Amino acid sequence: MNKNNVRVRFAPSPTGSLHVGNARTALFNWLFARHHHGVLVLRIEDTDQERTLPQHTKSLLADLNWLEIDWDEGPVVGGGYGPYNQIERKEIYTKHLQGLIDKGLVYPCYCTETELEEERALLIATHQTPRYLGKCRNLNAAQRQELENQGRKPAWRFRVGSGEIVFEDLIRGRIQFLAESIGDFIIVRSNGIPAYNFAVVVDDALMEISHVIRGEDHLSNTALQLLLYQELGLKPPRFAHHSLVLGKDRAKLSKRHGAVAIGEFRRLGFLPKALINYLALCGTFVAERKEICSREEMISSFSLANMGKSGAVFDEDKLRWLNAQYIRDTADADLASLLTPLAEEVFLENTPDEKWLEAFCACFKDNFVTLQDAGEYLRIFNDTAFKLDNAARSAVGAAEAQQILGALRFILETGLATAGGALSYQVVVDSLKKATGLKGRALFLPVRAALTGAVEGIELDKLFALMTTPSMLTRLKKAMSWG
Ligand code: GLU
Repeated sequence: MNKNNVRVRFAPSPTGSLHVGNARTALFNWLFARHHHGVLVLRIEDTDQERTLPQHTKSLLADLNWLEIDWDEGPVVGGGYGPYNQIERKEIYTKHLQGLIDKGLVYPCYCTETELEEERALLIATHQTPRYLGKCRNLNAAQRQELENQGRKPAWRFRVGSGEIVFEDLIRGRIQFLAESIGDFIIVRSNGIPAYNFAVVVDDALMEISHVIRGEDHLSNTALQLLLYQELGLKPPRFAHHSLVLGKDRAKLSKRHGAVAIGEFRRLGFLPKALINYLALCGTFVAERKEICSREEMISSFSLANMGKSGAVFDEDKLRWLNAQYIRDTADADLASLLTPLAEEVFLENTPDEKWLEAFCACFKDNFVTLQDAGEYLRIFNDTAFKLDNAARSAVGAAEAQQILGALRFILETGLATAGGALSYQVVVDSLKKATGLKGRALFLPVRAALTGAVEGIELDKLFALMTTPSMLTRLKKAMSWG
């Protein structure tokens, strides 16, 4: 039940992939909606036809699905306030534009990109706030006609009045702008496509959005949008502008800081739960300083009042730490399914079955920071690619080593080392000790070198738990023929 009529929206522009910054905005809206038993709308802001690509929309939806951020209205699921793609709402904007034209609140502007750019450059050069100075504001009918005769197509500009624009931000408190510093702004471009500030106001109002939660980079847009709400006679929502994600150098997080796209984190082997947990932590005050939170805990403790006002520094080490915790807490069978694609990459047609992968996870998952780390351990068990590195080669070369390996070969071939049908590490060790009179490093180093191809690495008991006898014999044969 939506007791408080909470309706929030996530409104990405499909001009690129979902990145840490906008995924965090999506998460905050999702948590707010779920906390209040409200509705999350997903709206696709696809008015920038040059940069909008269908594959971006597709990957946005896939990334949200991967993060398990679900929406109640929008693409795929539909809803009573659609269409949810702005490009399909052109008629709605045109109707509202007409209302503003009729009231004389907008005027046609014939300035070209170049003219506007020149004006902007001049204002910047003379240390003034770049804004539109109103060249087309007071044109008469004849002047307009003349410009149209030159083949110019007008955009529609909103007439900004004077005075203060004040609103109470739910995170930042009282925010104030001076209308005089804004300048008349375009609401519909000369190609008939609405500009962001206009489309967003019409949509948020018609979709009955109660709270707009978005990044602080939109604060100045909110001032423009409030003017539009007023003149369109629409009720504004409440606003909450959260801080942005910053790199370690406190600059806005971008590609140069490393991975930023959600898809990249997925490919790097991060778990969605860890990423979500990290994004919820990043820049918010966590209840009881608890760092690992379940979704339920995040939902119940979510509050805009807990959100920091200053930028949230993205700490990849913290994310990696969280990821390792989540991997450790994942059931072996679930982890095995997550690792299947990676195992297929490593073993190709010889990919071991799920049971083996499950046992593999039980042995090694404590060592993984990301799923990719499992690759390094999986490769140890790939017979096809097996070879000894230089150190291993010289370790198995010594006469004593060859004697140990010979004894191991004998134990394996005769089936002496099985206990209850399975190969027993303890029996192997005991038999080897007896056969060679050796123990410790002198005994284990050549064994490890021969079976793994390296002198350092995984514990031998784990190796014996996971490697088949034929596989060990193949490796021994290689190690011994070099000796
Ligand atoms: N499409 C806008 C963006 O991605 C939405 C901003 C808003 O939430 O109003 O930045």
